[in-house]
Amino acid sequence: MTMSKNSQAWATPPINWTTTGFFIITNLAVLTVVPWYGFSYGFSGVEWLMAGLFWTLNGVGITAGYHRLWSHRSYKAHPALRWFLLFVGSMALQNSVLIWASRHRYHHRHTDDNERDPYSAKRGVWFSHMGWMVRDWPSSDLDFSNIQDLTNDPMLQWQHKHYWKIVWATNLGLPLLAGIIFGDIIGMLLLAGLLRLVVNHHTTFFINSLAHFIGKQPYSDATTAKDSTLMASITWGEGYHNFHHSFQNDYRNGVRWWHIDVGKWFISVCNWLGLAYDLKRVPGFKVRRAQLQMLFKKAEASIETSPLSQRWREHLESEYEAFSNTVRDWQHLQMQRMNAAGMNLRDRFADSVLRTRLKELEYSLRQQRKRLRLLLQETAMQQRASAT
Ligand SMILES: [Zn+2]
Ligand SMILES: [Zn+2]
Repeated sequence: MTMSKNSQAWATPPINWTTTGFFIITNLAVLTVVPWYGFSYGFSGVEWLMAGLFWTLNGVGITAGYHRLWSHRSYKAHPALRWFLLFVGSMALQNSVLIWASRHRYHHRHTDDNERDPYSAKRGVWFSHMGWMVRDWPSSDLDFSNIQDLTNDPMLQWQHKHYWKIVWATNLGLPLLAGIIFGDIIGMLLLAGLLRLVVNHHTTFFINSLAHFIGKQPYSDATTAKDSTLMASITWGEGYHNFHHSFQNDYRNGVRWWHIDVGKWFISVCNWLGLAYDLKRVPGFKVRRAQLQMLFKKAEASIETSPLSQRWREHLESEYEAFSNTVRDWQHLQMQRMNAAGMNLRDRFADSVLRTRLKELEYSLRQQRKRLRLLLQETAMQQRASAT
């Protein structure tokens, strides 16, 4: 196989039959045995409920645990919460935290690099979804040098060592127990065991695949990562992937309060209960700055083709100057805050004045974004009018 663009030529590695066989059997069984059992014997409401519950717990374990807590350290968690996330995350059958987090950090560090991103979207939807696991690609070779902060954690060492025991206990043991309690062991195993596992696999894999293909890029076009409410609603909030690749240490992926982000809601509730703390948030100003930079890029591109190019160019230039001034003022104020803290001169009054000023600057970016969007809409209308 010849790799494209930035990749060397790799010989196609052998198929990993353990993983591939497992995927074939579980996916085929979901498409055949599960519907057959459903039509022949029926599934009860409680079986659907348990499948939904386990699916949600697995999603939370991966999103709030594997991803945002361990891979990105976007907040700190009480040991009780860490144990909980470790168990429900293990149940999702996506490897130990150490393996998952190491590969995920390489994904962020080398996004879209076909040689070094384990699930590079530039190698296609199938490869980034499951193809990367079907063969032993060199891009997936394990190298824990990027997770030294995690390898020393006794809890994660324990999980890594006893991973398969936890997987069996949670995947077979919990549905079995539920089946015994509610009186239909096979139905429960098929729905809360098998179907739940396969559905959760695909909804997580979508984050590596579809979240790099479907949606918009409001914050950056440096990578293929996209923002999509539809994707977010089936991936526990991880579908705001353009934001996440732009600000990976933020505990939120859906940054606005109305964004559908189950991971963010879960961490916020845990924070309120005292189980999660030191939640990391990127300053609002930086978010606005990234959005505006993208809008300026779009405006530049559209003005190139506009018949009113000179007039709009002047508009754009003055907007860009205002933007640069705001960014400069903001950086200056940030320096002032840092210096004051360093010299131990920061009193509450001075700090609150600075914070108010920072908020004002953020507000001015918000207003500018509105103006720029109007400008872009008008440009599009003008272009349409001149085309007809
Ligand atoms: Zn990604
Ligand atoms: Zn990430």
